[in-house]
Amino acid sequence: LGPTITAGEILVEIMATSVGTGFLEPLPLLGPFPSGAPAIFIDQVAKLGGSAGIISAVGADDFGTLNIERLRRDGADISAIDVLPDMPTGTAFVRYRPDGARDFVFNIAKSASGQIRMTDAARQLISRAGHVHVMGSAFAITGIGQILTDAVADVKSRGGSVSFDPNVRKELIAEHGQAREQMREILAVTDLLLPSGEELEVASGIKGEEASIGALLSLGISEIVLKRGALGSSYFAKDGRLDSPAFAVKEVDPTGAGDCFGATYLTCRRLGKSPEDALRYANAAGARTVTRQGPMEGASSFAELDAFIRETGSET
Ligand code: ADP
Repeated sequence: LGPTITAGEILVEIMATSVGTGFLEPLPLLGPFPSGAPAIFIDQVAKLGGSAGIISAVGADDFGTLNIERLRRDGADISAIDVLPDMPTGTAFVRYRPDGARDFVFNIAKSASGQIRMTDAARQLISRAGHVHVMGSAFAITGIGQILTDAVADVKSRGGSVSFDPNVRKELIAEHGQAREQMREILAVTDLLLPSGEELEVASGIKGEEASIGALLSLGISEIVLKRGALGSSYFAKDGRLDSPAFAVKEVDPTGAGDCFGATYLTCRRLGKSPEDALRYANAAGARTVTRQGPMEGASSFAELDAFIRETGSET
């Protein structure tokens, strides 16, 4: 199996330790934690022993080193992470509101993540890849959409596969007129779609879960796995549907759950596990993630997932 690869932002996350609204007064903060949805995804694939790499950029600073060392430690290919001398690593400050909503202060566009380019190292990684994971959020960052489009074309021409997590925010689609067109192009070559919540309808462009699933399967997508937060997940394919309940856990920090879930489902399927087993492992990975503070801190190995499933017992 050629490596699973993606392209996109690497950030550090710094979180407020108190619940409340915004950052308009001095607050105790916790961090930096390695972050960026594409980095979390690739770290989770690597922790499961899957071969995985990311095309990205960080600054020549401690925030960049923190991310590179974590990804290296967990077994990811870091050869296509550019270290830029004149740009800082991207940052995300986050604070939870009492209702669970989050306030963010991002610096992505004007950080190293806004400067991700197709380098020789990136081309080499793509030429070895067997699978490309595409994230909707990447379309909001100049240049990454094109890198992913090129990677998808190359990997598909060699018989590889593609997964797509729309993780779109409506604001981004409205701002970037191109995003909808790029999404349509990616959906046409997607093998595994990993939406959550309203993303299913955003992707299909029509209302209703069943109608959306039908429309997306008829595009040629072989598997759709819908993430339902504390309600678990569902699998849809031409041959039918499976629903898998969530594991009962106390949610501490939901950031990263969808990425660890998707990476685990994909890796299980690439290793030949059944959709049923893949869903159970992915639910366990998502549940474990929400029990840890920090987006990448809950990434799991198979040994950790097996122990978690044993200890947490039956699903809810
Ligand atoms: P996203 O982060 O993409 O919106 P979800 O919030 O649906 O995705 O989380 C992904 C998966 O993580 C869920 O399908 C579920 O398996 C697991 N998960 C998320 N939140 C919880 C929770 N509170 N309790 C148990 N499992 C959870």
